[in-house]
Parts: sequence; structure tokens; C-alpha cells
Amino acid sequence: MSEKIFLASPHMSDEGYEKEYIKEAFDTNWIAPLGENVNKFEEEIANYVGAQNAAALTSGTAAIHMALKALDVKQGDIVFCSSLTFSATANPIIYQNATPVFIDSEEETWNMDPVALEKAFEKYPNPKAVIIVHLYGIPAKMDEIVKICKEHNTPLIEDAAESLGATYKGKQTGTFGKYGAYSFNGNKIITTSGGGMLVSDDKEKIQKVRFWITQSREKERYYEHKELGYNYRMSNIVAGIGRGQLKVLNKRIEQKTDIYNRYKEAFKDIEEIEMQPTLENTKPNYWLSVITLKETSKVKPIDIIVALEKGNIESRPVWKPMHMQPVFEDCDFIKVKEKAVSTDLFERGVCLPSDTKMTVEQQEKVINVIKKLF
Ligand SMILES: *Cc1c(COP(=O)(O)O)cnc(C)c1O
Repeated sequence: MSEKIFLASPHMSDEGYEKEYIKEAFDTNWIAPLGENVNKFEEEIANYVGAQNAAALTSGTAAIHMALKALDVKQGDIVFCSSLTFSATANPIIYQNATPVFIDSEEETWNMDPVALEKAFEKYPNPKAVIIVHLYGIPAKMDEIVKICKEHNTPLIEDAAESLGATYKGKQTGTFGKYGAYSFNGNKIITTSGGGMLVSDDKEKIQKVRFWITQSREKERYYEHKELGYNYRMSNIVAGIGRGQLKVLNKRIEQKTDIYNRYKEAFKDIEEIEMQPTLENTKPNYWLSVITLKETSKVKPIDIIVALEKGNIESRPVWKPMHMQPVFEDCDFIKVKEKAVSTDLFERGVCLPSDTKMTVEQQEKVINVIKKLF
């Protein structure tokens, strides 16, 4: 069978930057706990995105969790959250014993619909926080969302796990809200094998997060704990991989953009296929190229997924929205349209291989398998 084509797989730099930083850590025995790589990786990410402060954690999920804790989200609090996302966006709300209210998507970016958000504020006037996502690396309608959150005096958390490097009107995703969270999980645009970063302009809060994620150890000779702690700190080895990967982030964005554009060009004459749309004045990172099939299409997402599978090619349905997940069945869901946009996208969407290691020939193969179905 021919070599497998992946959705998105780890892609280390050709130059071997990652190994250099890891070697440095080995040579100085800064394997653990902290060290130069962690500090530098925080600094470098903060500089890259234009945030004042950053804290490196074991995962993007941990970053979202700590953002909620830093906002004092607790039992009895309501948190508005995008429905169309990966469960890791919403789970930390439950970790804090708070209550998620899921918000539907709009059709122009597939992200949180500002109209539905406004409607949610009418029903629940005092949520503790709003969490939005920049799905598949495509920036949400930030002007509208930021404005609504400001009007209601509610802090915004951006789950930018999928959108590192993407910009909206020249500003990096993850820097619009009070907190921004990034992920370096294995399938993300850059990876450390696993890891995350929390950014904020609030220096004190980021320092506090660093304290919580190292088990809340007070400055005493013995182990003194006045607060609940977490073991969420990124290791120095992992941070070394991150520093190397950050050097090739811009290159990866270019490659992902090329992949998206090749699909767009290839499918432009197939009336049934539409690419995930983007707004003007945004520069997505195109982490994944995603299509939807028109309702009238005889070819369904599952037909594409199965046909690709036969060619040893990985593809996936669009995220199943949180309001449809059994684990969140008791949660409220706010939508504007009779049929939820997120439900519709789930039913009609397919994530196509967007691996930066995929060659042009391999992508042609993917395209041909799909074109043959029409
Ligand atoms: C990957 C991802 C996360 C979680 O990141 P981890 O580092 O895997 O914990 C959160 N939200 C979204 C939208 C993601 O895609």
C-alpha cells in the first residue's frame, strides 16, 4: 500500500533547531524541572504574538483551565463557550465546577456568532467569562465579539490552540481577550509533542498561574501549601522542542496556506464543494483545510472519508458540536437560526489532509480521489 497521507503530523525543522536546544538542556543537565528553554520559550512566544507575558504549561487544556481559574470561575458561574470546537475548550469549565452555555456558529468563519452571543447575554446577563475559538486556524469576528464582551463587562478567553500565528486586522489571535491559550499538541501547526501556553498582559496573574502550575509551593524551606496546586508546568526538554519549532512557524503557515489554496483551485469547478470561508483583513494559519458539501450534493462527507481511507489517506468529519455531546446534554445552547449552524457544519463538513509533509503529488492524489466521486 502507498505511504499514508496524514491530516496533520509533527514536522520538525530541516535544520535540526529542536535537537540543538534539547542538546543544550542535556549538556547542562537542565532536564528538569525548569531552565533556560522554558523561560526563553515563554519570552519568544510572547514576542511573536505581541503579548506582555506568557506561561508554558503541559497542554493547551491546562492553559484554558488556568485562564478560568485566574478569572475566579467557580461553582454557580456561567461561562459562554463556542459549541463548534474540540471538547478541550469546554472541559475546563467543568473542572472549575462552573456551567457552560454553548453558543452557535455563524456561516462566515464558522466561529462564535456575535448575534447568538448577544442573545445569550439577554438570557444570562452575568456570565463570568466568554471562551471563543478560532476554528481550524481561521480567525473569528473579533471586532463584534470584543465589542459585545466590553459592553457587558465580561472577560474574554481566546482558545487559539488551532490558530497560532493567524491574525485579524494585523493583530495575533490569542491577544484580543484577557487571556489567550495555545496548544503544541502533536497535530497542531507547531508541536512540542505536547504542551501549551497561556498569554496575557496581566503580569501578576501570569505569575500566579506559574505558582499554581508548580503545585502552589509557598516560599518556605518545608513544603507549605495555602492554595490548591497543579502539576501543569512544561518541562525544559519540551520547551526546547518548542523553541526550535517556533523558528519554522512562519514557514509552516506558508505551507498550510499553499495547501488550502491548492484545494480551493482544484475544487473551484465542483459546485457541490465549498471551502471554509475566511473574512477579509484576516490572515488565517490554515491549520486544517476543511470543505463542506452542499445539502443538495449526492456525495456525502462519509463517501469522501471512505474513498480517501481506501487510498490510505486520513480525513475527518468536522468537530461534533458540544451541544450535541452526551457529556454536555444538560447544558443550554443558544442559536439564532432554526437549524443550528454548527450542527449543519458537522453534518456537511470534511477535514482534508493538511500535513505540511505532504508533497504536491500526494495532494494531487487526494484531490483526484475526491474529484472522481463527482
Ligand atoms: C488541541 C485543542 C485544544 C487542546 O490542546 P491540548 O494541548 O491538546 O490540551 C483545545 N482547543 C482546541 C480548539 C484544540 O484544537
